[in-house]
Amino acid sequence: MPELCKRVGGFTDSVIRRMTRISDETPGSINLSQGFPDFDPPRIVLDALQEMSAGGPQHQYPITFGSENLRKCIADKYSPRLGRQIDPEKEVVVTCGGTEAMMAAMLSICNPGDKVIIFSPFYENYGADAILSGATPIYVPLVPPTYEFDPAVLEEAFRQGAKAIIVCNPSNPCGKVFTREELTFIEALAEQYDAFVVTDEVYEHIVFEPYVHTMAASLPGAYERTITCNSLSKTFSITGWRIGFVIAPYEVAECVKKVHDFLTIGAPGPLQEAICSAFTLGDAYYTELLASYTRKRTLFCQGLHEIGLPHSVPQGSYFVMVDISAFLEKEMFRGWTDLQFCEWMVKAVGVAAVPGSSFFAEPVNHLIRLHFARSEASLQEALGRLRKLKEYL
Ligand code: GLN
Repeated sequence: MPELCKRVGGFTDSVIRRMTRISDETPGSINLSQGFPDFDPPRIVLDALQEMSAGGPQHQYPITFGSENLRKCIADKYSPRLGRQIDPEKEVVVTCGGTEAMMAAMLSICNPGDKVIIFSPFYENYGADAILSGATPIYVPLVPPTYEFDPAVLEEAFRQGAKAIIVCNPSNPCGKVFTREELTFIEALAEQYDAFVVTDEVYEHIVFEPYVHTMAASLPGAYERTITCNSLSKTFSITGWRIGFVIAPYEVAECVKKVHDFLTIGAPGPLQEAICSAFTLGDAYYTELLASYTRKRTLFCQGLHEIGLPHSVPQGSYFVMVDISAFLEKEMFRGWTDLQFCEWMVKAVGVAAVPGSSFFAEPVNHLIRLHFARSEASLQEALGRLRKLKEYL
């Protein structure tokens, strides 16, 4: 067989998605690995989807950079948040999920050999995004337990000639919500060292009080160098629909449109039209979404605390990092990797998690990630199962 592409040899498959497959193969297991809800999208969205099943032009190719209706909904929602009029023709690109949004953004700005700053821990896609776009990551630690970065270390990374920085806000997996001051500092460095800021804001509506989500692109002077990537997956509980988007200045958006056109042509037409219904929901919907995730966070984190499993409490997103050091010190688990622990855990107690090592550039082996985007009954059941872990301590 001829040689396969070296680039793809540079990363593994997604461990998050691998854990979902392992969970699916384990009868009765509760999947707290890959983060997606087990509850339905809003009724209005399901009804709109049904309407789209009637005949019509929506079943053919949509405009490659997104249906007119959906781009208008996106521009209308984000113009006030960004404090400027977003042009739905020129500054919005609808993509196949946040995943394609990030990939298309990276392919639009990186030349082979460029350097890209990635905070560690990081959502595992960014490593592959960097490699596929020919860039080399420079990792800057977010230091637990507060997951703050050292400003001097960040500046040093920019000084090395970074072309861009990726900011996941709120952060997957550590749940950090970047403050306005932190984002202002990052944008100032990006300006000083002439770099792009690429944001991933898919958890923007899951930010717990008293924390507040700030769009980096809304900061004074930041819009021209900021590429905002987002998705409707988490906001409207439609992770299977694969609808994301990029908001960027005209010249950047033109480039993203080209990449997107040749990668996928477009996100599914009927789904783009159907999701427009969700934009009529207004603020009450987002308030209730947050209230629901706040209840889940309280239930899940209190449960972990009562069991005695040390864990992080996210400021935003629905991820919790659990410290498994106490297990790894036991004879039974000695020398195990966190991946081995997760593979064992799903079989032993029926709960799937993601090994923390898949999120860190540093050699971290003592953390696993769980998510709480589950019904309260399912979270109670998962906690009951996790309690059994104590028998191994
Ligand atoms: N962002 C979610 C996670 O980290 C889902 C990722 C995905 O598989 N697209 O689990």
